[in-house]
Amino acid sequence: MIEVESIFFRYHHDWVLQDVSFQVRKGEFVGVIGPNGSGKTTLLKILYRFLSPQQGEVLFDRLSLKKMSRREIAKKIAVVAQETYPAFPFRAIEMVLMGRSPYLGHLMFESPKDLEIAKKAMEWTETLPISQRPIDELSGGERKRVYIARALAQEPEMILLDEPTSNLDIHHQVEFLDLVLSLNREKGLTILMASHDLNLASEYCDRLIFLQNGKIYKMGPPEEVMTRENIEKVYGCEVWVDRNPVSGMPRVSLLRKGIH
Ligand code: ADP
Repeated sequence: MIEVESIFFRYHHDWVLQDVSFQVRKGEFVGVIGPNGSGKTTLLKILYRFLSPQQGEVLFDRLSLKKMSRREIAKKIAVVAQETYPAFPFRAIEMVLMGRSPYLGHLMFESPKDLEIAKKAMEWTETLPISQRPIDELSGGERKRVYIARALAQEPEMILLDEPTSNLDIHHQVEFLDLVLSLNREKGLTILMASHDLNLASEYCDRLIFLQNGKIYKMGPPEEVMTRENIEKVYGCEVWVDRNPVSGMPRVSLLRKGIH
């Protein structure tokens, strides 16, 4: 579905991404992990053409993103970016309806069909009861579900998520990622999620892309990527990796200085 072919990107002098190549197949749930500053957000921004690489190419269904209009891209790829507050306290339903904008003509208002699609998206994300509430009065977890509803209203084939659980408590982390997983498994949406939470990425993702200083250090299923050796090398701190006793997926434990 997405083919990233040897992309290089820099904001100023230094390369922030170097020779990054990978593919994401339709229906996969892929995680992008790596330390702060390793290039996760930049990579996501390139995948929805907010930024363009200086070298290399991104293809969606074999078509170069460069050859697609913003509207075409928005019909295929939706984004849940890191927490940003809209400048105006829109109601939740208004935020979700914004997801329909790629389908509206110039200066056109939403039709009853758009409203129906937005309501369906809110039903799926259980945000209908809060549809009339201003977005800035919602809790972090509620707001995240509204953003997912907006992404769903876009009727995309793929959703990009940037650190979606970073300010949520564990209950809301799991609730949110269960919702994303259901979109992946039940609706067949392809998911690419940047996360610095190694254990959540290990639990939910089919495959991981592990970035170090803008290069792919390792790529593969969590069992192969999430090893003590890999994590210690890239993060430069000591960890313990065993298996989650219930799911069997790799589990990373932090080690306080002097404990080992
Ligand atoms: P991550 O998401 O893994 O934390 P980022 O993609 O945000 O990494 O950042 C990668 C590198 O690019 C960092 O060194 C960061 O300082 C730099 N960077 C990010 N955004 C900008 C920007 N708008 N202008 C200049 N440098 C940036």
